[in-house]
Amino acid sequence: METIIREYNADHPDAAVMQQAGQILRAGGLVAFPTETVYGLGGDALNPEASAKIYAAKGRPSDNPLIVHIADKNALKVLSSDVPDMAWKLADHFWPGPLTMIMPKADIVPRQTTGGLDTVAIRMPSHPTAYELIRSSGVYIAAPSANTSGRPSPTTAQHVAGDLSGRIDMIIDSGKVDIGLESTIVDLTGEVPTILRPGYITKKMLEEVVGRVEIDKAILSDKEDPNLRPKAPGMKYKHYAPKGDLVIVEGPADAVAAKINELTDELEGQNVKCAVIASQENIDRYHAGCVMNIGQRSNEESIAANLYAVLREMDDLGVRKIYSESFSGQGLGAAIMNRLIKAAGHQIIRVQD
Ligand code: AMP
Ligand code: MG
Repeated sequence: METIIREYNADHPDAAVMQQAGQILRAGGLVAFPTETVYGLGGDALNPEASAKIYAAKGRPSDNPLIVHIADKNALKVLSSDVPDMAWKLADHFWPGPLTMIMPKADIVPRQTTGGLDTVAIRMPSHPTAYELIRSSGVYIAAPSANTSGRPSPTTAQHVAGDLSGRIDMIIDSGKVDIGLESTIVDLTGEVPTILRPGYITKKMLEEVVGRVEIDKAILSDKEDPNLRPKAPGMKYKHYAPKGDLVIVEGPADAVAAKINELTDELEGQNVKCAVIASQENIDRYHAGCVMNIGQRSNEESIAANLYAVLREMDDLGVRKIYSESFSGQGLGAAIMNRLIKAAGHQIIRVQD
């Protein structure tokens, strides 16, 4: 199959692009499109064959459910058999935006879309291209990240094409996304709302609206614990990983730089291609031949926006060993560290002064 790639600029909308994409979606085909978090791979959420195609194109395990994207809050009543009161409150505050809510599914949502679960994940994205695609196609769009399963999520249309060209019908290119990390997922099926995946919307932001919020214990720990099973099936898989071996080095900046320099000096001495992922504040401390600036510690949004592109670039450069600084773990930093620790397969070196 040849993948059609078309640019779309929401400031100068080209209705023909949306018409073509809408036709593909209504016919059960797949269209990748930008959201404010990452690029998504969309199909008709109510068409089980379209969902099956999404899993096949990504090589995604079939027990890993898809998020359904909507353009109007009232779709909650169609997609859920019992919309929790809190969902309306959270939707009023955070939609359109990077928050996904889990609730009981309605019968019309096929189990192929929900990975066999009785619950459904729903989000209303704020990216104008995503909004226009959902609205004009008239389709509720099931869309996981538009990457090959296990690879870093795509933040540009070129990343999508690199992974999925020839496997999907169309890619809508609206340039680089804004946030760069997947949505916060909050489960509303229990008594207390529980974060299953950290993201741009933080625990504190949610608590300001609905009071107490918990975080799924399985995603809090930085060690792999076989006794803790994440409630979001997708969170149990190794994910976002570059091909080179990634290790996080954590501690005071001086000690981290000294340790990383020692390790990269040794590897480069053996002709092993290695790289360092560094914050702008500390970038001058490193010796290695390849040092990548991931953004500013003083502006964690810049780190979130660059993370996946930096991990993908490591693959393009053919790097075999990667050392990364560690980040705060608070607020947006919690989402950054969650993805980085998974990308590193939980390999962390702790150093002290
Ligand atoms: P992705 O769209 O690639 O970011 O993946 C969607 C994420 O949402 C995965 O981690 C899924 O496990 C999670 N998810 C989707 N639906 C549900 C659900 N009904 N219950 C729990 N987690 C879900
Ligand atoms: Mg994904």
